[in-house]
Amino acid sequence: MPSTSGVDPAEGASVAGPAGSTDLGPLGSGVWVELSVAADIEAVEAVSEILTRFAPGGTSVEPGFGLTDEGLGAVIDTTKPPIVRAYLPGIDPAGVEAAIVEAAAALGHLQAFGLRPIGDLQVRTVREDDWAEAWKSHFPVLRVGRRLVIRPTWRRHHHQPDDVVLSLDPGMAFGTGLHPTTRLCLAALETLADEGLLAKGSARGGAARVIDVGCGSGILAIAAGKLGAGELLGVDTDPIAVESTTANARLNSQTRRLRVRQGSVPSGEGPFDIVLANLIASLLVRLAEPLRGELVPGGRILASGIFRDREGDVQTAFEAAGLRISRRWAEEDWVALEAVAV
Ligand code: SAH
Repeated sequence: MPSTSGVDPAEGASVAGPAGSTDLGPLGSGVWVELSVAADIEAVEAVSEILTRFAPGGTSVEPGFGLTDEGLGAVIDTTKPPIVRAYLPGIDPAGVEAAIVEAAAALGHLQAFGLRPIGDLQVRTVREDDWAEAWKSHFPVLRVGRRLVIRPTWRRHHHQPDDVVLSLDPGMAFGTGLHPTTRLCLAALETLADEGLLAKGSARGGAARVIDVGCGSGILAIAAGKLGAGELLGVDTDPIAVESTTANARLNSQTRRLRVRQGSVPSGEGPFDIVLANLIASLLVRLAEPLRGELVPGGRILASGIFRDREGDVQTAFEAAGLRISRRWAEEDWVALEAVAV
């Protein structure tokens, strides 16, 4: 069993005296020490920076969740603080103790700076044998928009009549549905589906042909397929993403309609009715012309991954490429745009 103890950063320096008030149980090889802190969104970056000093593998940030479905599911709750986590090798118990003291002190200083609330430093041990399973506890069943449900393969979900359930094994590829940029795109896709643009949106009549540029885990292409789109192509420059999308297409019985390959735009397989592109702003700017080139006249692109400061740049590049911005969605610092090929 992992042992957990709380360390108040405000009293950081007094935490682990010689007796060590953090009772972590036996450390050693095959044991990791997890440090975690709930931090207000404004403080996440500063807290991550502090924990990274002690953790060779860097940090992870888990958004705040509210539980639903009798605790079996969850929705992102932006009023709850994200949790920053870092792992220290237990093979060096003295180093671990020192790191805890220093981390708590540094967090205490941060608090004194007047950044918004930072919770206690939580410390617990995780045995390597449990490791392969431990990360899975950070992926709940997630409801996005009205109907879409992202279910990690190892979790159960009570199906509601309207639910469109995606079973996903995120593995190493990006696209668990937890990132705001992915969620914005999924919500936008659901809107297009509600408007009949997926099932009947094709310029030739019938279901829309869709390309997902930078498909990652395949989450967007699979959602499009389940929401009624016709033929789907996923491309990604990263071979791991291609593998992941292929595996997830199989898990969701989408292999007939969803083809995946390593690459980018131009795909040479257009035109498409809809382009999905959850990339970063600089790539959207650079690829504006070839992305436009994938579309039929009147076709739409859903572009996400745009940090709010860069929205203007994307808009300018899109307009120059013959894409007229028609809608926008925003969450936290991120923006997604819909644009129509004129
Ligand atoms: N579509 C997924 C993943 C988005 S992350 C989601 O919405 O969650 C962005 C993906 O774009 C990564 O998998 C990355 O490998 C891929 N990528 C980066 N540059 C690219 C490019 N020039 N062309 C195609 N894909 C690219």
